[in-house]
Amino acid sequence: MSTPADNLFPGIRIVLVETFHPGNIGASARAMKNMGLTELVLVNPVNFPDERAFFRAANAEDLVHAARVVHSLDEAIGDCQLVIGTSARDRRLPWPMLSPEVCGQKALAESTAGAKVALLFGRESRGLKNEELHRCQYHVNIPTGKAYTSLNLAMAVQVIAYELLKAKQGEPAEPPEWDMPMATATAVERLLEHLEETLVQLEFHDPDNPRQLIPRIKRMFQRIRLDQMEVNIFRGFLNAVDRLIPPKTPDAQPPKASAKERQRPTA
Ligand code: SAH
Repeated sequence: MSTPADNLFPGIRIVLVETFHPGNIGASARAMKNMGLTELVLVNPVNFPDERAFFRAANAEDLVHAARVVHSLDEAIGDCQLVIGTSARDRRLPWPMLSPEVCGQKALAESTAGAKVALLFGRESRGLKNEELHRCQYHVNIPTGKAYTSLNLAMAVQVIAYELLKAKQGEPAEPPEWDMPMATATAVERLLEHLEETLVQLEFHDPDNPRQLIPRIKRMFQRIRLDQMEVNIFRGFLNAVDRLIPPKTPDAQPPKASAKERQRPTA
């Protein structure tokens, strides 16, 4: 059985999104326990619980038993200040990238400073969806040969977990210094939803012809790494902009939904 002392990385969780093969969940748990990680979160696993997961976990069965099963990515990462997504291939919109090694160092440094960190892994068939990758501040790609760039899911977990352990055994991680706590994933997501609604109201963004506007804005905000105070300031600013947006037709009242939005608290 793992005890809290077996967790070398408090605050760091491994999140597996819609895993299909239960054996991969077990093998990921084993990879984690080998490297001193214990927190496993499963977002809508397709076949779970399943004895194949326990079989492949070997002596890491306890991690599989303790895995937290959730039904949305929000539940898995909402309270995290650093979210890093793994991806086997280049996506249409390039995102800030970390090497596995720097990913290990960064996740360790930020968790040591008190941040909650999520490392996301995608489906065996098609990885993480774009909207899931857009929830991340960084993406990590494990270098491979050209002929086959996609690792088995549990093997990808192994590489990333190994880099964490390497970072832990190396130089003491320098916790980053900042005067405010970093914003949580949920706070950033609510801000981005609010911004998108305001841009629609302003007719700056046309949802019928979206192009890449919203993904580009999301990328910009993920790159900035907002702190909680900055999120509150921006929400306050958006509330002020919302109040100035005139109703759509001269004699119509503002639509109900947006009127409600205008009273939304800034937190
Ligand atoms: N066919 C999918 C790959 C899925 S592999 C695709 O094209 O995206 C399952 C998961 O393992 C991925 O979502 C990712 O989390 C991880 N993974 C596999 N190969 C990886 C690589 N080279 N770098 C980073 N993560 C990888």
